[in-house]
Amino acid sequence: MRITVLAGGVGAARFLRGLKAAAPDDEITVIGNTGDDITLYGLRVCPDLDTVMYTLGGGINPDQGWGRAAETFSVREELAAYGATPDWFTLGDRDFATHILRSQLLADGQPLSAITERLCRRWRPGVRLLPMSDDPIETHVVLEDHLNERTVVHFQEWWVRHQAKTPAAQIIAVGADSASPAPGVLDAIATADVVLFPPSNPVVSIGTILSVPGIRDAVAAKTVVGVSPIIGGAPVRGMADACLTAIGVPTTAAAVAAHYGPDLLNGWLVDDQDKSSAEDLAPLGIEVRAMPLLMRDLPATGAMARAALDLAQELA
Ligand code: GDP
Ligand code: CA
Repeated sequence: MRITVLAGGVGAARFLRGLKAAAPDDEITVIGNTGDDITLYGLRVCPDLDTVMYTLGGGINPDQGWGRAAETFSVREELAAYGATPDWFTLGDRDFATHILRSQLLADGQPLSAITERLCRRWRPGVRLLPMSDDPIETHVVLEDHLNERTVVHFQEWWVRHQAKTPAAQIIAVGADSASPAPGVLDAIATADVVLFPPSNPVVSIGTILSVPGIRDAVAAKTVVGVSPIIGGAPVRGMADACLTAIGVPTTAAAVAAHYGPDLLNGWLVDDQDKSSAEDLAPLGIEVRAMPLLMRDLPATGAMARAALDLAQELA
């Protein structure tokens, strides 16, 4: 079977580990969000692609869910001694090597998709990892203070520096309108037996991937099953509620599914706590299944992935 997954960072990477365990013989293609990408100290950093690559390749810091295991921070300390900015983004020494090589290859004129393939030759994630686009797309956030003064910051500045505490008036995928899907992306969707949305941020991960022209229509033509990142009215980790509020979507499993809509989504896995969302979603034509959705270990995560695949098969 061919499985194509739209992926953000930590939530997606953990789910993908379970999916690989649940479907060891299937062909998995991962379309990664690049809207979180940022240039720091002259280096191109792709947090979501790297989180998936390190997690599936065994190089992740398992407690954090991002960054490399057994990191040291000498480069960061040296940069701080120069007063280099920004000082709010953490990159470890091992991680820096990835960004240095990526930036070197970008400067040589290679597309991000080819570079990602090159990096994956080392990590062997066991999936085909494609960036959503080779064109630079950056998520920016419009902040509005109490005097209605507007400032625009990179998503990372809002998320990491401000911890999403300042409400976002608007979230924009800058560059998406004129971007194209990376080579292989539309094909991986068109030839998929099932498309999965892992428990990723619906706005700045899945939403950003869907904003690349051509991707939404390609996905809409397939059997799509999603896994709710919201349990009992709250994100499991992180601040996805701040992103949902910015686009006027309540932080509930049912509202996220309704936001994707039946054109896109055929099946939706919710946590047992959110069983009742089936009543809201059945009239829309979205089929709901409830089960424990906490990715606490590999068996639990594998069971979630298995349930998503079973539901897809049922709906195909
Ligand atoms: P990011 O790019 O690192 O923020 O990662 P993603 O966009 O892939 O995933 C973030 C989302 O994963 C958040 O909205 C979390 O609520 C969700 N999430 C994290 N852990 C779990 C879990 O164990 N179960 C479920 N259902 N969702 C989770
Ligand atoms: Ca991300």
